Amino acid sequence: MPERADLERRSTELLQRLIRFNTVNPPGNEAAAQEYLRSLLEESGFECELLAAVEGRPNLVARLKATSDGPTLCLLGHVDTVLADPAQWTVDPWAGELRDGCVWGRGAIDMKSQVAAEAAAAIALAEEGWRPQAGELLLVFTCDEETGAVEGAQWLCREHPGKVRADLVVNEGAGQVLRYDGRRVYGVCLGEKGVFRFTLRTEGRAGHASVPRIGDNALARMGPVLIALRERRAPAQAPPETLRLLEALGLDASDPEAAVEELGRTDPRLGVLMEPLLGVSFAPTIMRAGDKINVIPARAELEVDCRVPPELGEEHVREALSAVLGDDEFHVEFADTVVGNRSPADTPLMETISAFVEREDPGATVAPMVMWGFSDSHWWRDAFPDSVVYGFFPQRAMDFVEGFPLVHGADERIPVEDLGLAAAFYSELMETTLR
Ligand SMILES: [Zn+2]
Repeated sequence: MPERADLERRSTELLQRLIRFNTVNPPGNEAAAQEYLRSLLEESGFECELLAAVEGRPNLVARLKATSDGPTLCLLGHVDTVLADPAQWTVDPWAGELRDGCVWGRGAIDMKSQVAAEAAAAIALAEEGWRPQAGELLLVFTCDEETGAVEGAQWLCREHPGKVRADLVVNEGAGQVLRYDGRRVYGVCLGEKGVFRFTLRTEGRAGHASVPRIGDNALARMGPVLIALRERRAPAQAPPETLRLLEALGLDASDPEAAVEELGRTDPRLGVLMEPLLGVSFAPTIMRAGDKINVIPARAELEVDCRVPPELGEEHVREALSAVLGDDEFHVEFADTVVGNRSPADTPLMETISAFVEREDPGATVAPMVMWGFSDSHWWRDAFPDSVVYGFFPQRAMDFVEGFPLVHGADERIPVEDLGLAAAFYSELMETTLR
């Protein structure tokens, strides 16, 4: 098994290198980063393929086979990032600078860090002569995750299922330690919330704006809607993962809303982050009304980003919406209706993760959770219903409350100590799963 210091050095250097490839999506331009990863993996004995839906945006599939049958373990990651505004940053977001014990840059958490730790661990093992005893190791690094995975995971799972099918998949989604009331809990992401974005329309009657009450102003009708969306919350429909997470934090999960309130009183930042895990969430983001300043608008439209616990569908969104907005009739049109999916909680993979955490951080525990956002895990579960797909990237030096706001934010960075920790986990996972 490779030394921790060696894993830390390898993943740090690889992360710095990966950050220097600007893969802001759109447009992504992932080819150079993927070619670089391919050359490293090929040199250490992996069979590699670049599979692209469009020119210049390949997905990388690297494979190490055993001679006997066994499970396929896939370490997954995406190499594209969201944009960064250099004016908001202390450092150049694409310099991959090492400062104060951290690697800084866009993608340092989401998720070139995990790609680097997975690849560095696999390469270190392969260079030592390690090979899977049974089964198969897959490293899959996708493009286009940040804008919907149309050319990445969605395409890959649909067009090349035979090449990316796996029994166990480990991707992004959780693993930063949560500290609360003297407890330390490492989340394991079992599922992601579904995405139900919609447009809500109000209707009125046009008229001359010099006589305000001559018409019926559709824009003004949005006022109460916006206030309700800010002030009120849909009744909790907490998924079982959230209940187990609250229990692990020492809270009474029989009343999840009260538990999250208590959490928020002790640590407001944690309260804000945990609240959406209770159920359906609504965030109005775009509004349109009126074409001319002297005409009362007869129609206004509000776009709402709505996230829904796994396996719940449109009827749950409509119920939640009427609980928030009351019985007024609104016209609602859905643009996205992706039902979230999940993997089971009690699996050998969870045991491997728990054993690692207990050894690394005695006294800490592991708890399942559902992620707020969306990830490539969804497409793997969708395509391969028997796969167990988790999000886990252990981080201890930087905890969840400190790290989460850096994702898609300014000054994204990761402690090198956490890169070493994560690489050690992936190294152990490969060895214990494929023997
Ligand atoms: Zn990501």
